[in-house]
Amino acid sequence: SHRTDNYLRHMESMKILPSGAGRIPHLNAVILGESLATEEDDFVLPSEQFANQANVQSPEQYLEMYKRSIEDPAGFWSEIASQFYWKQKWGHQVVHENFDVTKGNIKIEWFKGGITNICYNCLDRNVEAGLGDKVALYWEGNELDVDAKLTYTQLLHQVCQVANYLKDIGVKKGDAVIIYLPMLMELPITMLACARIGAVHSVVFAGFSSESLSQRIIDSKAKVVITCNAVKRGSKVIYLKDIVDTAINDSAQNGVSIDVCLTYENTLALTREDTKWKEGRDIWWQDVIPQYPTTCPVEWLDAEDPLFLLYTSGSTGKPKGVLHTTGGYMVYTATTFKYAFDYKPSDIYWCTADCGWITGHSYVTYGPMLNGATVVLYEGAPNYPDAGRSWNIVDKYKVTIFYTAPTLVRSLMRDSDEYVTRYSRKSLRVLGSVGEPINPSAWRWFYNVIGDSRCPISDTWWQTETGGFLITPLPGAWPQKPGSATFPFFGVQPVIVDEKGVEIDGECSGYLCVKRSWPGAFRTLYGDHERYETTYFKPFAGYYFSGDGCSRDKDGYYWLTGRVDDVINVSGHRIGTAEVESALVSHAQCAEAAVVGVEHEVKGQSIYAFVTLVDGVPYSDELRKELVLTVRKQIGAFAAPDKIHWAPGLPKTRSGKIMRRVLRKIASRQLDELGDTSTLADPNVVNQLIELADS
Ligand code: ATP
Ligand code: MG
Repeated sequence: SHRTDNYLRHMESMKILPSGAGRIPHLNAVILGESLATEEDDFVLPSEQFANQANVQSPEQYLEMYKRSIEDPAGFWSEIASQFYWKQKWGHQVVHENFDVTKGNIKIEWFKGGITNICYNCLDRNVEAGLGDKVALYWEGNELDVDAKLTYTQLLHQVCQVANYLKDIGVKKGDAVIIYLPMLMELPITMLACARIGAVHSVVFAGFSSESLSQRIIDSKAKVVITCNAVKRGSKVIYLKDIVDTAINDSAQNGVSIDVCLTYENTLALTREDTKWKEGRDIWWQDVIPQYPTTCPVEWLDAEDPLFLLYTSGSTGKPKGVLHTTGGYMVYTATTFKYAFDYKPSDIYWCTADCGWITGHSYVTYGPMLNGATVVLYEGAPNYPDAGRSWNIVDKYKVTIFYTAPTLVRSLMRDSDEYVTRYSRKSLRVLGSVGEPINPSAWRWFYNVIGDSRCPISDTWWQTETGGFLITPLPGAWPQKPGSATFPFFGVQPVIVDEKGVEIDGECSGYLCVKRSWPGAFRTLYGDHERYETTYFKPFAGYYFSGDGCSRDKDGYYWLTGRVDDVINVSGHRIGTAEVESALVSHAQCAEAAVVGVEHEVKGQSIYAFVTLVDGVPYSDELRKELVLTVRKQIGAFAAPDKIHWAPGLPKTRSGKIMRRVLRKIASRQLDELGDTSTLADPNVVNQLIELADS
């Protein structure tokens, strides 16, 4: 058709992208809004209507901007940065970096000498621009009829009250503040209050155990913890204050004592009378915060002053304390949010991530608020009271941009589509995914069923360390491929290297690295710059190493294949976990799959697959054979799993990622070496898996 020919022409002109890009010998494509995406389709093209209204409207426009961002990063980013308020402009050098360990210590600085404040840019600047009465936050409680909202002006007032309180108890610029709160409005309020006075927030996901919390208190040497007494999640009450008490005692024994534990009284879950209390240390939020003035001068900060500390989710081992600074992070999160979601001022944006993760920092709080967006916060569980809750929320607030994780998509896929189709979802226009590779079949279900084949999907690849998206579709610009994160964001130069650290061109697969810094990059691991260099910059000198494997196809599209530590080597074939899992999940009766390698005398390693079936499907040897056959057909005989292990559930981190380290131990029957499983979202699944091991 005319439209597909057009794209073909655009893509052929992509000289700037790694060689190989721009060659499309044939084009099986569906156009946004016109029909279902099926397995035969290579591409999903934006409709003319979508493209015409988009922030970036064509591959050509993307290329033009991308080219400029690479050739003149300083010019490109300072133009964008100028849209924010700076008390004083940065020095003449916009970016200063050493990205090569062989040339000295790794150092990254953006907008050094520039004086600003991210809270001011999120709130005051928007209020002054006339957005004071616009809703900043819609809050949806755990129960169906409990909600609240705050306009930008109201939010600013509340943030100022908390900021004034923190100053009053002696919190100063550079001090760490631990936040251990569920998804109440008080969570982003507290983050912004810290940012306003230059305190470094360290949000700890309120599902973590007391040990994890005390580790983080000790590491950051905080004096103040902000929490709430309890919260309801689904039908369970979680007694957060008890967990905090234990953590504070543990840290005191390790020489770090907490002076103040500010506690929000969450009467929906627990009254203050029933909350354990330590006079002198514990303070009720409601007793102090409302008494403080609703204005508070901001602490003006250097662009390179620290903004926050956040520990990675710990999928692979001991969590790392990632440190982000002010100016570059501000510019980068705002810009990625705007382009990757094609943000417009009329959008209602909902990201299902908790503020305890980087996604909740960059794309619940800072990125959206810097754009003056209306954000939905949801306190509860996605399947409470039933699997339709997310679409109930979408309809209630007329959500236009919905950003979630593959784990949620796959879990909803297991239930009947009827939970989705009973809601209208007409307001939706852009969907997003983050956290793991999204299997093409899950992508199609997300696209066809949730989005009614009308909404592009931004599969955003990034990390706690990167601050914001590095590889992401720009809806409206690029034709999409189900399961591919597509192309680099402005200013990002991804490269794929081999084991020796040599860049590979064109169609290939290997280790995903980045060549130059981008404004949102982390600056160090808190208190351990050496570990920072060793982990990220020493494996391949001259590059930032992401730890992820990736392949680039003949059209230049990037496909994340999983963590390189998880790569399986069968008779010399290197196989990414994502590829095999996606093949399994493409079987209609397979809801979710996780594969690991186990030692094999002949092949070196063999593939061992854990498989969760769609609700109600019985286990059978017939089905086992079909699943193996599916992988043989799609990838090849070498990738066929030797074992299919039925899994009623998979071990996942609290952020919903599959923990393969535990699965590897189960697969090799090293059951006494499972390690710490207390941080799993549901430690019980491990026992279920062990019971089913030989069935
Ligand atoms: P740790 O580093 O402590 O093991 P983690 O890597 O899970 O934990 P995060 O920073 O939250 O902590 O997650 C980043 C990782 O998530 C990426 O390195 C990648 O493996 C995966 N990831 C995130 N988004 C995507 C995506 N869109 N496609 C594929 N993988 C993704
Ligand atoms: Mg990581």
